[in-house]
Amino acid sequence: MSLLTACRACGGPPPQPFLDLGLLPFANALPRTPSGGEPRHPLVVGFCDRCTLVQLVHGLPSEAVFDADYPYFSSYSEGLVAHARAHVDGLVESRGLDSGSLVVEIASNDGYLLQHVLRHGVQALGVEPTPGPAAAARERGVPTVAEFFGSAQAAALVEEHGQADVVVANNVLAHVPDPADFVRGLAALVRSDGLVTIENPSVGSLLAHAEWDTIYHEHMSYLSTLSVAALAEAAGLRLVHVEPFPALHGGTLRWHLAHRGTPSPEATAQLAAERAQGLHRFETYAAFDAVVRGSQAGLRALLDDLREGGARIAAYGAAAKGATLLGACGIDVGTIDFVVDRNTWKQGRFLPGTGIPVEPVEALVEHQPSHTLLLAWNVADEVVRQQAGYLAAGGHFLVPVPEARVLA
Ligand SMILES: [Zn+2]
Repeated sequence: MSLLTACRACGGPPPQPFLDLGLLPFANALPRTPSGGEPRHPLVVGFCDRCTLVQLVHGLPSEAVFDADYPYFSSYSEGLVAHARAHVDGLVESRGLDSGSLVVEIASNDGYLLQHVLRHGVQALGVEPTPGPAAAARERGVPTVAEFFGSAQAAALVEEHGQADVVVANNVLAHVPDPADFVRGLAALVRSDGLVTIENPSVGSLLAHAEWDTIYHEHMSYLSTLSVAALAEAAGLRLVHVEPFPALHGGTLRWHLAHRGTPSPEATAQLAAERAQGLHRFETYAAFDAVVRGSQAGLRALLDDLREGGARIAAYGAAAKGATLLGACGIDVGTIDFVVDRNTWKQGRFLPGTGIPVEPVEALVEHQPSHTLLLAWNVADEVVRQQAGYLAAGGHFLVPVPEARVLA
């Protein structure tokens, strides 16, 4: 990996580093052996004071991290499927979509969202580069093109399918190496009177709640309304609305972009709130380094104290943020015995760089560890509800951020 020579978004000077999480393996490449010998790469975050985009300061080809083994299937999260259904129902209603309309989703995964579009009798097209999820989407009847997305692919899609009434891009803009080209593609793909919606956890929430474990190599940009508005403008789109989802992935924003229109009062208020938080200033990000160091020290101290007191500790959720959290803190299988995950693709593998084996969720009740660290804290409520048996038998859940603590 090499240092960027220019900002990913505006092409200006390279981003100024403010947080170094050390050398870590790719968080989503779960090895089949515990070796811990996976290649490690620097994980350093920087800020562009020209366009305000927070981004990794090293370049990385997207093919390097999204391989055919990519283990994430979004339909595994019940909350996410319900959120997607509500989004589609709202779009069909507000945009008056019918059988003559086309909704395209970029990074459509296994069709978790577009299945609801089809249910309304509206045409759907998915664009999904990873073969496993793309095949799963086609199996449930969602037409899906297996490719990465950018301005070149957008032109080809328009040629074959025409322009879209709505383009949805959830949790993908932050993962592409060239966000400017991606947004130019969105602009080309959507009709002149159409709508683009982009959803992603916001860097404002990341800072406010010390969600530093959401930083990993695959997550190349950390978006704010300010930086999304700049990206949109450069591509000939405008920010027209913002919807907040404070409970989703630790604080998600949905940005609405269009070729015409003016910012809604909500969009204007969000831009003002982000300036008040200092998201347009390097100093705000520079101060975050101390917050992260404190969070890491607190987690290590809590786990060490519990172990010394005889606790047996497991973890819940073999997600990317768990690999960042444990890897950056130097926590491995010597502290955490195993991690459970509902995703069968992950079971039998190991959390990268830690030697911690991934087991089925049933292992919690089977082995009844005294404490379970919720690496997937974004679905904490759902997990705690599902694991009533584990709690009733005397188990406890821990959350790692913003400060490590016993939850229940
Ligand atoms: Zn920039």
